[in-house]
Amino acid sequence: MKRISIFGATGSIGQNTLDLVRSRRDEYQVVCLTGSANIAQLAADAVEFDAELAVTADFASYEDLKNALSGTSVKVAAGEAGLDEAAQMPADWVMSAIVGAAGLRPGLIAAKQGTTLALANKESLVCAGQLLLATAQEAGTKILPVDSEHSAVFQALIGEDISAVERIIITASGGAFRDWPMEKLIKATPEQAATHPNWSMGQKITIDSASLFNKALELIETREYFQIDPDLIEAVIHPESMIHALVGFSDGALMAHLGPADMRHAIGFSLNYPDRNHVPVERLDLVALGNLSFRKACEIRHPALRLAREVMAKRGLWGAAFNAAKEKAQERFLKREIGFMDMPSLVEMTLNNLDQTGALNAMPDSLDAVLTLDQIARDVAGSLEL
Ligand code: NAD
Ligand code: MG
Repeated sequence: MKRISIFGATGSIGQNTLDLVRSRRDEYQVVCLTGSANIAQLAADAVEFDAELAVTADFASYEDLKNALSGTSVKVAAGEAGLDEAAQMPADWVMSAIVGAAGLRPGLIAAKQGTTLALANKESLVCAGQLLLATAQEAGTKILPVDSEHSAVFQALIGEDISAVERIIITASGGAFRDWPMEKLIKATPEQAATHPNWSMGQKITIDSASLFNKALELIETREYFQIDPDLIEAVIHPESMIHALVGFSDGALMAHLGPADMRHAIGFSLNYPDRNHVPVERLDLVALGNLSFRKACEIRHPALRLAREVMAKRGLWGAAFNAAKEKAQERFLKREIGFMDMPSLVEMTLNNLDQTGALNAMPDSLDAVLTLDQIARDVAGSLEL
């Protein structure tokens, strides 16, 4: 039996992961499930999957979780210490699916355990790619990307020599506003940004899809995970979301990875790796699909993509600053303090500010260094006036 843990089990990726585990229940032993505010879901899943430990990141919910699981054999923990305990428990496969920079610490601790780390939390690579990869390498941990584009690139590269790669193209659906004119974009509301035409995902990533900040994070994620020259990486708009990524080789071949817009494919791939087993997702009907279309991702319309180029060139702590400023910008957008198109402006202003003060010159060689910069960037992004 494969011993598995899921960080962020109550979220969109977490629930899709449990769905796959449910379909092959006798192959898995669930070690640990973590959540945050959604205690009823966390408790129900911990009981259904007979987890050894259930952790809520929200310390104030500890008593609720304890009460919900009283009389069961599930151990309960909470807060940062609880997440640390979860991340230290031996498991064969760990899903890192906490949203945002909060996923960094548990992922990094798990990477020290010599396990297989299925990485949905793209922020880990964006904020601390070098640190995470070095930690994993030292411990013999295998990191498998779960973001659909990166899983697609990973799959297209199986058996290939990375030095023969000429380009990597990741696709973007274009999000909720892909056909909106610029003057309408400026007035977009949080409610409008939080709907996605193709994918069903958590709120943060859905809004990031509309602004293409999600694609910006994914460009950086590609650069860090595959250790590839940023000039070889591009994003194109592909409204049908059927091709997730393409890898071009030195002989001109372009290998595309197609699949339904269903995260269970990439999760299932990482769960089964290195084997391929049945995954219960829809099979694509190419004839019914008819056409696939592509268009340029415009960096004027989507400044997040231009900022990602700068972050990829600078590296160091720039990714951590970019992500923290982006998370703060989204928070302010959700509170209606700033507009939709103000988000990239605020991120750019924050990066410029941090660059001028020298805050970005520290080495990204410890979790403390990354989290300190993360907090500074949030404070700056929270205080700047637009
Ligand atoms: P979500 O919002 O649906 O779920 C987030 C999970 O994290 C929940 O379990 C929540 O309880 C937990 N959480 C929230 N705040 C926390 C905190 N401060 N500390 C600890 N736990 C906390 O998010 P999601 O859409 O499932 O995304 C999870 C991660 O996977 C993100 O990094 C996202 O970018 C990435 N991802 C998601 C998708 C998708 O289809 N949803 C696709 C690709 C990548
Ligand atoms: Mg993705």
